Amino acid sequence: MAKKTIADVDPNGKVVLMRVDFNVPQDDSGAITDDRRIRMALPSIESVIQRGGKLILMSHLGRPKGKGPEPKYTLKPAAERLSQLLNKPVAFAADTVGPDAHAKVAALQPGGVVVLENVRFNAGEQEPEATYANALAAMADIYCNDAFGTCHRSDASMVAVPKAMGNKPKVSGFLVAKEIQYLSDTISQPKRPFVAILGGAKVSDKINVINNLLGICDQVLIGGAMADTFSLAQGGKVGGSRVELDKVELAKELLAKGGSKLVLPLDTHCGDAFSSDCNKQVVKAGQIPDGWEGYDIGPETAKKYAQLLKGAATVVWNGPMGVFEKPPFDEGTKIVAQAIAESDAISIIGGGDSAAAIEQLGFADQVTHVSTGGGASLSMLEGEKFEAVELLDNA
Ligand code: AMP
Repeated sequence: MAKKTIADVDPNGKVVLMRVDFNVPQDDSGAITDDRRIRMALPSIESVIQRGGKLILMSHLGRPKGKGPEPKYTLKPAAERLSQLLNKPVAFAADTVGPDAHAKVAALQPGGVVVLENVRFNAGEQEPEATYANALAAMADIYCNDAFGTCHRSDASMVAVPKAMGNKPKVSGFLVAKEIQYLSDTISQPKRPFVAILGGAKVSDKINVINNLLGICDQVLIGGAMADTFSLAQGGKVGGSRVELDKVELAKELLAKGGSKLVLPLDTHCGDAFSSDCNKQVVKAGQIPDGWEGYDIGPETAKKYAQLLKGAATVVWNGPMGVFEKPPFDEGTKIVAQAIAESDAISIIGGGDSAAAIEQLGFADQVTHVSTGGGASLSMLEGEKFEAVELLDNA
């Protein structure tokens, strides 16, 4: 069900409480090393301030203990970076529901912005007690969720706060709306053929994704170390490859369920040590000799997967095809990324490593959607419904 977005409400003169994901990476001195998450929230932020709204931004950063301020996790640097990006002053409140927050919110002019301190400094963010959520909700006329990376969680600022807003408007931001559009709506009514390509280290991380996608895709292509666990389930030899012995039975079940929809590698690029300069050889899948490990899909597999991807109308990709951090074992991932970039399909790249790979390779602007969420995008590909999204107003 489509949700109302921030574009559907009039923020003029109103106080908008927006949950954003400013959980940015920082170096040891606290300097922000990648401000992508702040930049991703700019369209929603600008939409409110350009229309004369008074904007309160709240976010978590890191994993503080919930027992008061911890300087390492302050959102002050994020507020300063936002001010630079907006090219206007942004206020910062040293608390979230305390006297400084109230004073700074009361002082907001139309078009003004205040960033509250880290919501996780307060125990109420992650423990079920209504006082904290009520105090946050009481400050605002409109609630907006633009924190996709946290949408699979039930923290107070994601769930209890919008609930505490009662009948006041509760809408999604543009980032959350876009993620739902692609990771949920497009996938549930895909243009066919719909091909998913899944890689990465562990079957255990992706079981629910494979299960869900086997139900809706025409083909699910498997790569990464995961493929070796499937190979073992088929009675293949995997040498010293990274496999999950306790997931072999599960792999057998997925093979039975998937039938010809589940496509496994034809060959494997192996090495005799976990480094770029090890000895290398390509072997048929399921024939990895002792003393060798599979580090990437082989060239025959890469070629086959690229052809299948080029013929698809919808593509979902999550997880690298091999140890892409150590060339030449990035070859399979590169070929797959290029095929997705060159295809005319609606292409959706799950967060985490595959998003990083497509960006590093320079293909990010040739795909339809690169998800900003790691855990959240996996959960959405599993078909999970998020309470934090469900409770927003329907369009
Ligand atoms: P994930 O977080 O599950 O998407 O896994 C990503 C990680 O899996 C990357 O760091 C890859 O280096 C690793 N990986 C992928 N294929 C293999 C492989 N065949 N052997 C060992 N590690 C792998």
